[in-house]
Amino acid sequence: MTNIIPFPQLEIPETIAAGPGPGNTDARVLARYAGAGLADHMHSDVLRGMVECKEMLRAVMGTENTYTFGVAGTGWSGLDMMFAGVMPGDKVVMFVNGTFSGIDGLTVRMKAATEEELAANSLDPQAASVITIEVPHGQSVTGEIVEAALAVHKPKWAAMAHWETGSGRVNDIEGFSAACEKHGAMGLVDAVSSLGVGDFRIDDYPGVHGWASCPQKGICCLPLTYAPVSFTDRYIETLKATGTRTFCHHPILEARHWGVIDGKDVEKGTYHRTHSAYAVSAFHEALRICLQQTIAQRAADYTFHESALRAAVTAMGCEVTSNMPSLVVLNLPGDLAGREMELVQHCRAQNFGIWPTLSEPVQVRIGILNLLNEGAIRDIVQRFAVALRDLGGTVDSAAVDTALAQHYRRAMAAE
Ligand SMILES: *Cc1c(COP(=O)(O)O)cnc(C)c1O
Repeated sequence: MTNIIPFPQLEIPETIAAGPGPGNTDARVLARYAGAGLADHMHSDVLRGMVECKEMLRAVMGTENTYTFGVAGTGWSGLDMMFAGVMPGDKVVMFVNGTFSGIDGLTVRMKAATEEELAANSLDPQAASVITIEVPHGQSVTGEIVEAALAVHKPKWAAMAHWETGSGRVNDIEGFSAACEKHGAMGLVDAVSSLGVGDFRIDDYPGVHGWASCPQKGICCLPLTYAPVSFTDRYIETLKATGTRTFCHHPILEARHWGVIDGKDVEKGTYHRTHSAYAVSAFHEALRICLQQTIAQRAADYTFHESALRAAVTAMGCEVTSNMPSLVVLNLPGDLAGREMELVQHCRAQNFGIWPTLSEPVQVRIGILNLLNEGAIRDIVQRFAVALRDLGGTVDSAAVDTALAQHYRRAMAAE
């Protein structure tokens, strides 16, 4: 008898997720995922869990928007739903300063393209109604840039990444919101890498009418669980008037399963598509953790530990070009310049999961999602120093130790 199973069981090793995301899923979240009982998507406790998630998500996002819930999938699932409001021929101004806002731009061009424009180049349509403002890699989108573009174009929609994870840049959300309000544009924001990391309330930005995030970065849940989204009533009214050509990612239809019907909270959701009891349990626990730790405390912890990592890699001779609290984007010291990809691959081969930038110029990205303690930061610094030496670089260990000691000792003294 030959064994007809072609492969052994799949083993995936434990790694240190020290990149831009996915982050390190909290052990409590994994336990809830594995601990959920077998139950269908209309079981009363699953439906109750979804309603509780919706309520906790409003607190995490800082909003009273009724249309606040999770979209099954990852960040792009939530973004696809958020951009569902954009219809063919709609005028949109897109602010692009890296990989992810670039893909947001592609999504918007696909949705805003006319039938002819889409057929002419279906994978990269050039929609005449979409104006793309390119901001160079390594720079932030400023309020002045947004104001100048919206004053000229007066679009229906304007879209930006809150934090551009490709280049590690924080964009000016306050300026974006103000310019949208002033010029009557509805702002749409990709908050995939900022939610759960930065201390902000979306209701403080009234020019923004749609928000989308992801499960597996700042929220510390699992990929393919739920991507948080939130929409103002104006967005929903606009969408209702035009309609949109998706069933699955339809904001109004999907909200029904989370207990939002005709703009109101109801006790129990109604069927939209099958939801997973495991995913609901995991997402529920992730949101409980966010609220328990508080968004403000998490944000303070990210800022604190990012500056320790920044000081340590700077002491190694690297040049940091990012300003995001969960991610350091850097150029290697002069003698290793140009070997960024090789260094990243060397680290990844040892399950030290750092990342390169995905668009030019190639830089190294080191993230600290859910790695908010001195031990974890010291481990990353140590591994990174070893990798630099493995490639033939030199590391001044004393300078690195001093940088870390100063940072963490100063913190202890302050406590
Ligand atoms: C990670 C990321 C995405 C993509 O999210 P997925 O979860 O991979 O689908 C989109 N936008 C930004 C800003 C991101 O950081």
